[in-house]
Amino acid sequence: MDLYEHQAREIFSEHGIVVPRAEVTDSPERAREIARRLGGRAVVKAQVKTGGRGKAGGVAPAADPAAAEAAARRILGMDIKGHPVGTVMVAEPVDIESEFYVSYVLDRAAGGFLAIASAEGGMEIEEVAARRPEAVVRVPVDPAGKLTTAHAAHIAAAAGLPPQAVDVLVRLWEVLVREDALLVEVNPLVRTAEGRIVALDGKVTLDDNARFRQTRWGGEKDEQHDPLEAAAAAKGLHYVKLDGEVGVIGNGAGLVMSTLDVVAGCGARPANFLDIGGGASARIMADGLSVVLSDPAVKSVLVNVFGGITACDAVAEGIVHALDTVRLTKPLVVRLDGNNAARGRAVLDQHAHPLVHQATTMDGAARRAARLATAA
Ligand code: GDP
Ligand code: MN
Repeated sequence: MDLYEHQAREIFSEHGIVVPRAEVTDSPERAREIARRLGGRAVVKAQVKTGGRGKAGGVAPAADPAAAEAAARRILGMDIKGHPVGTVMVAEPVDIESEFYVSYVLDRAAGGFLAIASAEGGMEIEEVAARRPEAVVRVPVDPAGKLTTAHAAHIAAAAGLPPQAVDVLVRLWEVLVREDALLVEVNPLVRTAEGRIVALDGKVTLDDNARFRQTRWGGEKDEQHDPLEAAAAAKGLHYVKLDGEVGVIGNGAGLVMSTLDVVAGCGARPANFLDIGGGASARIMADGLSVVLSDPAVKSVLVNVFGGITACDAVAEGIVHALDTVRLTKPLVVRLDGNNAARGRAVLDQHAHPLVHQATTMDGAARRAARLATAA
């Protein structure tokens, strides 16, 4: 789950990282009062869970409280990259001398974290990396270790950050560890005209696997959830909505990922990712089918199962029983392979259904499902 800038700002502040004084509101009149409390001048910033707000017009300096009210009124009506602006943060303006970039991000491939830092902050880091790769420094960080001052000093020196940034790097790592985050990013981290180091913008992505102990953010409903994803999550399913027309159900994340590729290779587009995991019981199969079938974009469904601990005949029984409770409205192509595949296929044959087709290979199954989707 991504946090809003004002939530990231609050966490940073608790860990001793300096942030501008600020308050959040959904009312232009309140924005005027906040600006007055902050001394008159202010920066009004859209609170949306997407970057590039500045470029989109969602960050506006205001010379006085009246201007802050006008800016808030304008920004509160905006939609930034599909995110309607519900609240604004009214912040004390900062006189920027220079802008830097610092972040820690999970590096899944390496099984660790990366510190990313650059003396060229303010713009999107991908842009800097594309234009001047040598200006972006990446240093691996041991997820089990403590980030020492010496390590932080090395990162800062390599990136050309000022010495005061070392302390921020140490504290930002504490934020990541303490809050179970997958990403913590400050862009820009600025040096002010008076030489203070201030985190002007923050992004924090929490690890949803640690949701059980993130009680503080638990009450917040994530309004960006796709309704199908929300329904699937409520049933404990690992479902991700995609843009295509072939619904995909499989057991094991790796198998489902390759199924998506094979469907795409057949000239169709997968409508979703759905991993039903090891236990393909009738209940899980019924839940999975009902979620996938309720996507109006789905024209056919491909069930791709490689029997391991859960044998194919148990999966086939699961499908048969699922069809007692879920009305099949679109063609279903089933490919069973692995443990007890022949028995599984026999179970499906015994319970022949006009919309259920079987295939023996993954390629064959994907081709069939793709054809059925395009014919529909
Ligand atoms: P983003 O566009 O979503 O990344 O939003 P940011 O909060 O990073 O703001 C974009 C840019 O606006 C920053 O890089 C700064 O250059 C500028 N900005 C934001 N707040 C202030 C401020 O208090 N003073 C000044 N001078 N510029 C600011
Ligand atoms: Mn930013």
